[in-house]
Amino acid sequence: MIKNKYKILLVEDESNIRNLIATMLETSGYQALLAGSCSMAKTLYTSHLPDLIILDLGLPDMDGMSFLEFVRNESLTPIIVLSARSTEKDKVTALDMGANDYVTKPFSSAELLARVRSGLRNSRYGSVEGRLPDGKFTLKNLEIDYDARQVFIKGEEIKLTQTEYNIVALLSKNCGKMMTYAAIIKAIWGGYAQDGSIKKLQVNMANIRKKFGALPGEANYIINELGVGYRMNAERE
Ligand code: CA
Repeated sequence: MIKNKYKILLVEDESNIRNLIATMLETSGYQALLAGSCSMAKTLYTSHLPDLIILDLGLPDMDGMSFLEFVRNESLTPIIVLSARSTEKDKVTALDMGANDYVTKPFSSAELLARVRSGLRNSRYGSVEGRLPDGKFTLKNLEIDYDARQVFIKGEEIKLTQTEYNIVALLSKNCGKMMTYAAIIKAIWGGYAQDGSIKKLQVNMANIRKKFGALPGEANYIINELGVGYRMNAERE
């Protein structure tokens, strides 16, 4: 069967890492477009409109963040930031600037490929298909009925408060994307993340996880990265 390959733009200046990832992507059936600088990345982005971008932040000509900004002014193409900068603040900055996900070097190829699949799935769930025709979202045994505002696991309804439901619905509509505390708080309560609001979010999230986890083996729908945010998992990692 001939099918169109997903085009992935890989922006990385270290040729050994770039070749390694390119081989890994091609082996997995993706088409890899390779850039070693921001300006090359802009040219390739504009001429090929890739389905997903893997972006190193430390580049010779400009900071990768400026390419991130450039892409976000144009489109919602999923961007996975790849960086040796691993502080929580760096991750939050990249995510709040519009990156979908963040992978810290050194990384395993299995991990990066899982994030790529998540990112591509996330873009398919995006504005067009995020709400499936019947207003339902399904992920493994989890089902969300957006019109009825009900959540089910294995067909059994999970009773959530309004706020808990709103958080679950938000994460599901951004499935696969790491959502920062600030982004969730803004969407749910409007306003900015302060210690108080982060605490409020954590309490709600703990309740959600408890309710989800009440059924054995079903606790992994929502992943927490401490100090960064939450992600609804597109697949088990
Ligand atoms: Ca670099």
